[in-house]
Amino acid sequence: MEILERVEEVRGASRAAKARGNKVALVPTMGYLHPGHLELVRRGRELAGFCVVSIFVNPTQFGPSEDLEKYPRDFARDTELCRAAGVAAVFAPPAAEMYPDGFQTYVTVEGLSQPLCGARRPGHFRGVATVVAKLFHAVEPDFALFGEKDYQQLQVVRRMVRDLDMAVRIEGVPTVREADGLALSSRNAYLQGDERQRSLALSRALERAQELVSAGESRPEPVLAAVGRILAEAGVRVDYAELRDPTTLAPVARIAPRAVLALAGFVGKTRLIDNRVLSAPEGAARRAEP
Ligand code: AMP
Repeated sequence: MEILERVEEVRGASRAAKARGNKVALVPTMGYLHPGHLELVRRGRELAGFCVVSIFVNPTQFGPSEDLEKYPRDFARDTELCRAAGVAAVFAPPAAEMYPDGFQTYVTVEGLSQPLCGARRPGHFRGVATVVAKLFHAVEPDFALFGEKDYQQLQVVRRMVRDLDMAVRIEGVPTVREADGLALSSRNAYLQGDERQRSLALSRALERAQELVSAGESRPEPVLAAVGRILAEAGVRVDYAELRDPTTLAPVARIAPRAVLALAGFVGKTRLIDNRVLSAPEGAARRAEP
């Protein structure tokens, strides 16, 4: 497994792999890898003979008061996990390689970046879209894998690729969870004491929401009220809990045929996100018509 720090090196490795007849898959990460990341790698290796994992804690997607400095890092462990998972190359550029002096060019996906996390983390998705575009230019992948865990990010990346005619296929990968439902996240490492237990309220709330919708509820208000109660009982401070169109992220008036329930909440000082696409039972969309 190669460990590369320069854009030119990883581009060279990718082009050489393609010249040998391989497809190339890219899994962009910020490191501190867990089985969710490794599921993206597994899927990438199914799609392509040469799988690249990038490990880069991207400064432009962190706000001034966010956790850039203390974001968890363990490069030695990450590279071992990549090696064991059959990754062909790790791309781990220093910040100055990605953002040289005088850097001033950004990618903005306008509408999709505005609601949900975009509203609470100004500039976040501009940083994400910019670094993902740069990684695509560096690696020139045929496929890039993103987790549904970061649902809005996945939609932003899909839109960017369509709008800017990028020659890469985006694959969304379902959220990998602990046995008790907690979505895996590098930030789970911050949870202390009873916070780990309390954080289960997010996945429980998503589950409850789907139960209500399966039982025929299609109005957002009762579903959001139930979600709010579950989060409040666990002492999770809600940042947002919203029902949106799964593709456009526009607000929905009814949960039919589908809507994404997107949650963000603080458990102590740790901000966690989770989501689920809620599906109404067959025929509910028609019944919802006036
Ligand atoms: P991050 O390192 O947090 O930037 O995540 C890198 C990639 O892994 C993103 O595409 C995430 O959506 C994805 N990812 C993170 N957690 C999970 C998870 N629990 N299940 C599936 N994908 C995940």
